[in-house]
Amino acid sequence: MRATVMYSAGDVRIENVPDPKIIEPTDALIRVTRACVCGSDLWPYQKMERSDTGRVMGHEAIGVVEDVGADVRRIKRGDFVIMPFAFSDGTCVFCHDGLQTSCIHGGFFGTTEVAGAQAEAVRIPLADGTLFPLRVRADDALMPSLLTLSDVMGTGHHAAIIARVTPGKSAAVVGDGAVGLCGVIAAKRLGAEQIIILGRHADRIALARDFGATDVVSERGDAAVERVRELTGGYGVHSVLECVGLEQAMNTAISIARPGGAVGRVGVPQEQTIPGSEPAFYNNVMVGGGVAPVRAYIGDLLPDVLEGNIEPGRVFDRTVALDGVPDGYQAMNDREAIKVMVAP
Ligand SMILES: [Zn+2]
Repeated sequence: MRATVMYSAGDVRIENVPDPKIIEPTDALIRVTRACVCGSDLWPYQKMERSDTGRVMGHEAIGVVEDVGADVRRIKRGDFVIMPFAFSDGTCVFCHDGLQTSCIHGGFFGTTEVAGAQAEAVRIPLADGTLFPLRVRADDALMPSLLTLSDVMGTGHHAAIIARVTPGKSAAVVGDGAVGLCGVIAAKRLGAEQIIILGRHADRIALARDFGATDVVSERGDAAVERVRELTGGYGVHSVLECVGLEQAMNTAISIARPGGAVGRVGVPQEQTIPGSEPAFYNNVMVGGGVAPVRAYIGDLLPDVLEGNIEPGRVFDRTVALDGVPDGYQAMNDREAIKVMVAP
């Protein structure tokens, strides 16, 4: 089959690789209906050291089950499914706690251990725990939004939950990538009255406003903090969704939280330490978050997608076939595309 293989920073190729097959009796195989390129794929795209074997990329997909191993009970051949970016058994202590990303038998797609989904097909470990079967037809119009439940919509929602977004209160979203935009949707869905987006790309800002952002702050650093204070009576916001992962973004996030507020961080951190320790301490700002257990949120978010109450699929502004994936990486890296969908 054909798949997307990354060999080093900037070196993404479409190649013929061996077809995935059932290895463990708990595996399933899915034919990928839609996959996509993630903002977090841009970190290796910018930094990855050369590897001779490469890495099959992609951790977001929806697809149709083609085969299941002998011990798979719940997932059936022909099921239309969402593949969350982490696989999990669904039965361990952390899965029961709704933290499937910490599953004691789990792991992540698109790593050197488990091949990714920017491909024609993908092997799913622990299929019964991992896959979320959809009882809807594989409707073209719904596919983009269903696809976001494998990562970005669930991740934006996680940021909003950790940031304790509350009806009638204020929220700010740091970052105008796909996760930040989904964070706006999540904040609105959870009832935030004022939603400030911090970003500077005209197309993304326009979408953020459509999704429910009430204010836009395009300044950076101290000027951004100043501007958010002006918009919030001098106090800062109750909830901050940090959707970038860089030091400056985290500093800004903590600085715009009002005393007693909370920051939900879901941007993959690019440093070992959390910036903003001193203001967080003196203002009693709760800083939490991490890799989002999106598997736990699909059931909550799906009805709103199916009923059209939220349209997170609008973050996709480009669709490519597999041959177009390398250009898709380039476009996202150059900020020419918000998020690229792959139709293998
Ligand atoms: Zn588990």
